[in-house]
Amino acid sequence: MEIINHNSGTEHERVLFGRDEASGYRGIIAIHSTRLGPALGGVRFWNYASEADALTDVLRLARGMTYKNALAGLPFGGGKSIIIGDNRTTTGRAELFRAHGRFVETLGGSYLTAEDVGTSTEDMEFVLRETAHVAGLENRSGDPSPVTARGVFRAMQAAARHRWGTDELAGRRVALQGCGHVGYYLAKELREAGAKLVVTDVDGARVERVAGECGAERIAPGEIYAVEADIFAPCALGGILNDETIPQLRVEIVAGAANNQLLDARHGESLHARGILYAPDYAANAGGVINGCIELLGWKQSHSRAKVEAIYDTLLEIFQRAELEGITTYRAADNLAEARLQPAHA
Ligand code: NAD
Repeated sequence: MEIINHNSGTEHERVLFGRDEASGYRGIIAIHSTRLGPALGGVRFWNYASEADALTDVLRLARGMTYKNALAGLPFGGGKSIIIGDNRTTTGRAELFRAHGRFVETLGGSYLTAEDVGTSTEDMEFVLRETAHVAGLENRSGDPSPVTARGVFRAMQAAARHRWGTDELAGRRVALQGCGHVGYYLAKELREAGAKLVVTDVDGARVERVAGECGAERIAPGEIYAVEADIFAPCALGGILNDETIPQLRVEIVAGAANNQLLDARHGESLHARGILYAPDYAANAGGVINGCIELLGWKQSHSRAKVEAIYDTLLEIFQRAELEGITTYRAADNLAEARLQPAHA
């Protein structure tokens, strides 16, 4: 394994490129902060157009993990890693993930890897052969998606309380983008709460499943932004709140699971200017990482569940602070996370 130290010139503590000729492994590990504990964040397996694109993504994702973990009150810092390549690959997968494990091992536990987009629990078993610094293993904390969905649901309730004075979502119309792992469970929670759903996905079978099981209305992927609804729930991709989509929105609240929903920080200002209440993504979608603490810290299921329910309180605090200080909700969330990153709190 050839490891190159990348002086990123950013706020990150360490950024490393790893290459392993025998397996064809090309990866990056970015440690943003270890102030609150080892940097925790999954490994994304993705076919980036260039190494520069992969670097941009990993730096952004690692920083997001620092803020997510700090805000959720977890004893972890933030990091992330990337394997560059086609995540559908079946040949040589074991070697690729073992190489990733060796790369992680060189950091001696300052970075903990786990599943992310394009990887599975089986892949993590390969990583485990080379390092103990891995989470998301089979038969441990289990699928994080229903727990993430529950946290997003709690974030929506907090937004409803702040905006409409009630947690009640019965009769509210929710436009849901992405019927994947989290979207599916979120749709179920919303259906149970009596909300009305309009859903979309680029994968027809996934839309059908949610439409069938939750009585949801279907809509084409490009039309979801202009749907007249109470809440827009992005549960697919990042960067979907941008100059093109924000003017189309006809909702009062945006709350969903997708990471990095704002294409740029200024899009938080655009939402604010349009009077749309935005539940900052890393505050709303912390359920998955909280669930991981069952495996990483030996938490009881009941403790993890209580922490996920408390996402409601965190969001209410963010909304109240934002209103009081006349700032955007994403800025209020950043301020709260940054306060926890101060030495006095660490
Ligand atoms: P997933 O891949 O299972 O689901 C995403 C869905 O979005 C897929 O069904 C995909 O077909 C669909 N999609 C992709 N492009 C689309 C488009 N243009 N329009 C409509 N649909 C589109 O992923 P997931 O695990 O459900 O995660 C969803 C989001 O939440 C991701 O951004 C992820 O990073 C984030 N997240 C997930 C978890 C978790 O526990 N799984 C935790 C925190 C954050």
